[in-house]
Amino acid sequence: MSKVIGYAAHSAKEKLVPFNFERRSLGVKDIQIDILFCGVCHSDLHTARNEWQNAVYPVVPGHEIVGRVISVGANVKAFKVGDLAGVGCLVDSCRVCPDCTDGLEQYCDGEIFTYNSEDKHYGDNHSGKMTYGGYSNQIVVDEHFVLHIPSNLNLAAVAPLLCAGITTYSPLRHWKVGPGSKVGIVGLGGLGHMAVKLAHAMGAHVVLFTTSPDKVVDAKRLGADEVVISKNPEEMNAHAKSFDFILNTVAASHNLDVFTALLKRDGTMCLNGVPEHPHPSPSIFNLIFKRRQIAGSLIGGIKETQEMLDFCAKHNITSDIEVIAMKDVNEAYERMLKGDVKYRFVIDMATLKA
Ligand code: NAP
Ligand code: ZN
Ligand code: ZN
Repeated sequence: MSKVIGYAAHSAKEKLVPFNFERRSLGVKDIQIDILFCGVCHSDLHTARNEWQNAVYPVVPGHEIVGRVISVGANVKAFKVGDLAGVGCLVDSCRVCPDCTDGLEQYCDGEIFTYNSEDKHYGDNHSGKMTYGGYSNQIVVDEHFVLHIPSNLNLAAVAPLLCAGITTYSPLRHWKVGPGSKVGIVGLGGLGHMAVKLAHAMGAHVVLFTTSPDKVVDAKRLGADEVVISKNPEEMNAHAKSFDFILNTVAASHNLDVFTALLKRDGTMCLNGVPEHPHPSPSIFNLIFKRRQIAGSLIGGIKETQEMLDFCAKHNITSDIEVIAMKDVNEAYERMLKGDVKYRFVIDMATLKA
């Protein structure tokens, strides 16, 4: 066991505060990582405030982790002390089901998330201890779930790739976005800005939908070919029935029909956002008349996460970030809710003093 310090939420209504806890002793396949940076995902806020009604307190959020390996178990093959290492949203899965053997661990029924999942390593009888995430100075993870970080990219700006990057990369690949596709990205937040960069690098024609007129210039700088203010029906109608694929990253419930109407025949809108309250039921007419689909996608598997990191290294893609001190995370949550972040907060763990 090693003693570590982190930041935890102790109830839905309280701010995150310093929290001392222990990481498990190193197993033979485990890697101990000194955390350098951790991104702040909207899912951290949803969980800390129990908006999905599944929080088991205390919650130590954080699943966009970049750090350096400080020790390795006897049978670790892929990492050595001193290597850079990344950890995303998953720290374990059953390893034998079809989802796991297909490299889609995120869809395994036995998946273990980086925080707020029952931690099977904690005692022989699943004593109910939960996993604790990256708002802390160290983490211990099985090497299968640890990613190699490209050395040419800014470390703090890489951290958000571990969730925002893979969560948008995976559906863009699954729905075969590339040259010749017209792709819509809804919402320019942490996920949305990565989706714009990635879809642009994949060669698609990218249209960003935003509710924030002040983000238009940025969206174009990030790689959008066109920007549409989604509250403006005239601008929306100009794109009717024209999209192959729309990736919706919005973190709040909203009317989906205004977007499904923009899909071509057989087009798909994939939902990434997981709002606290459900979206209004979508129009069935919008779906049946052009055989349109509404789908969902959860993060990405480990193999694809490495592929995404390598793609980002090749195309020199990282997140646009604002680095904050650990103590400022509560203020960062309030600012994220107001859309006042360009476009991801990243915590510098050197500011977390024991
Ligand atoms: P974020 O940085 O807060 O961005 C969300 C964006 O949604 C905002 O920047 C804003 O964009 C738009 N938005 C917010 N409130 C809105 C409203 N009331 N109406 C319309 N648009 C609104 O959040 P994030 O970290 O990107 O996460 C987005 C969502 O994805 C969250 O629900 C998160 O939990 C979820 N998520 C899902 C997965 C997965 O595996 N599926 C993984 C990670 C995160 P504009 O200002 O441009 O309109
Ligand atoms: Zn996330
Ligand atoms: Zn499995």
